[in-house]
Amino acid sequence: MKLSPEIYKEFEEIVGPRYISQDPGVLETYRCMPAQSSAHYGPYWDHMTPTPMAVILPGCTEEVQGIVRLCNKYKIKFKAGGSFWGAMAYIGSDYSIQLDMRRMRKIEIDVKNQLAIIDPYVNGAMLQSEAMKYGFSCNIPGVGCSSSIVASASGWGGVGPSTVCSGGHKENLCALEWVLPNGELLRTGTAGSGDGWFCGEGPGPSTRAFLTASMGVCGEMGVVTKMAMRLYPWPGPAVLPSTGTVPAYKAALPDNFRCYTVCFPSWDMWAKALTMCYDSDLVYLGHRQFNMFGRDLKGAMIRILTDPDKQLCDLEELLSDPEVKRQTEEMKLEFQIVLAGYTKRDMELKEAILQEILKECDAWLSSMMLEPDIENWALLYLIRLGHKNLNYVMCGSYEGNFGLNPNLWVSASYMEEAAAFKKQWEDTHTSIVKNGGDSEMGSFSFTGGGGAVGWEFFVDFDAYDKDSVTGACDFIDETEKWMAERHLGGDMGRSNKYLRQPNGYDWPQEKHNELFSKVPQPHVFAYQWKVREAINPNLLGGSYYRTLDPEMIPENKR
Ligand SMILES: Cc1cc2nc3c(=O)[nH]c(=O)nc-3n(C[C@H](O)[C@H](O)[C@H](O)COP(=O)(O)OP(=O)(O)OC[C@H]3O[C@@H](n4cnc5c(N)ncnc54)[C@H](O)[C@@H]3O)c2cc1C
Repeated sequence: MKLSPEIYKEFEEIVGPRYISQDPGVLETYRCMPAQSSAHYGPYWDHMTPTPMAVILPGCTEEVQGIVRLCNKYKIKFKAGGSFWGAMAYIGSDYSIQLDMRRMRKIEIDVKNQLAIIDPYVNGAMLQSEAMKYGFSCNIPGVGCSSSIVASASGWGGVGPSTVCSGGHKENLCALEWVLPNGELLRTGTAGSGDGWFCGEGPGPSTRAFLTASMGVCGEMGVVTKMAMRLYPWPGPAVLPSTGTVPAYKAALPDNFRCYTVCFPSWDMWAKALTMCYDSDLVYLGHRQFNMFGRDLKGAMIRILTDPDKQLCDLEELLSDPEVKRQTEEMKLEFQIVLAGYTKRDMELKEAILQEILKECDAWLSSMMLEPDIENWALLYLIRLGHKNLNYVMCGSYEGNFGLNPNLWVSASYMEEAAAFKKQWEDTHTSIVKNGGDSEMGSFSFTGGGGAVGWEFFVDFDAYDKDSVTGACDFIDETEKWMAERHLGGDMGRSNKYLRQPNGYDWPQEKHNELFSKVPQPHVFAYQWKVREAINPNLLGGSYYRTLDPEMIPENKR
């Protein structure tokens, strides 16, 4: 579909000719191939998200508001994207335009209130390096430092290795500025009452839940144009001292920083150690990270990634090296932690607590990960999260599945069974990477202080090979059944299946009505329907915001 020349001209008058395009080459780059990304609703072969009618790059809040008002005038759907890591940033219907927020990238650090006021395109790397100059750092979600903070906070999750210590984006979110889908401008919390940016709840309108819900509204409810994010203390230098060369960058930090890989004899001890970390406020960052390469491959992969002279083609040789084998076996069940001491005594205390955990949990430290070059590589990896391309390194694409959460003890009790289930599939099929079954990765916690966890198993496949994509899809179908049989909820690899159709388009409202009228608590979705009716009367979003027409609530639940 195309915009009429008259409507195109009206948009052009808002942003200027340089910042709007309907060039087919440009439009094509704003389409997502769901076989390529971890979209959690596929992967599916042979389709892409629809082509937008135009791509527009607004430069300020007034321009965003002008665009949204025009969209309402002509009933054109729209969606804003940050760094476009996720399929949810892409439009889902033909009569739609795409907003790319990359021109809006200002950062202001409010030292007194320990927060940053940021534009929508500010990503984790930009904010962190600015914050470090003032002795602060920020939460960076597991998707990595190249992702937009505003997108993660309002559009999706926002959790990662730092969340256990710093809180997730939704916890850190203070006041914000928001162009509602009807074109009105809303400033929430203290920004709404003219009292600055330090509080999202008031004095001033408290509407955070409308925007963030539990997983964010995926760009379906207007455009956030400014946001205040709480920062947290950084006891390190003003600039991260990175050394080395691609891809083996490292950070040689002072002695008050250590990165350890803690290894366990059983999942029970692994879970016990995690709770001890929560209880003692031990960690600055906590993640089970490098196991994403798989239980059998991780040692060899770490050797390759920390040595700029090695390549993936060295994998076979490294796998047959007895010392690499021993080290890989040594860290079969493990997690990574970063300790950061605010003073010398604080660091001594943290080291002593770690020793106590090792003793109580029959645990040990991985010898390979203590090699100075590897420790410094892992430190930079976890603090900056700038190596996220490595999520795709195996063969170009992956989907996270199982998603054993949120209870730590329940998920730990199923982890080995899940790994064996995946290993059996790997041993009998060629569609996914064979890496030892257990390729589970995830953050210590979805909330600050510890608690709910989210563990995903990496299912690596080749996005350009039909058999590999459909084979990965078949495996996820099987794990869905496995999860359902054990009453563990849906499989993570399909958690977005009701948000976008397999063909890349939005689901119609009838489908959401059919689905959400059957859930145990349909009123939740009927409430969201009312919210949407109030601020998005022209329905200019897609189907990522789950709604149920209240008329469709079953009689026995009214
Ligand atoms: C490989 C991979 C790993 C991931 N790992 C994690 C993880 O560990 N933890 C986690 O929490 N998430 C994770 N995710 C999901 C990720 O957090 C989201 O995709 C995140 O929002 C990425 O940031 P982005 O800038 O690319 O956002 P985008 O993909 O550009 O946008 C994300 C959503 O926010 C909306 N949005 C963007 N800008 C605005 C705006 N200004 N106003 C309103 N809405 C907006 C978009 O429409 C979209 O729906 C992962 C995704 C991938 C692909």
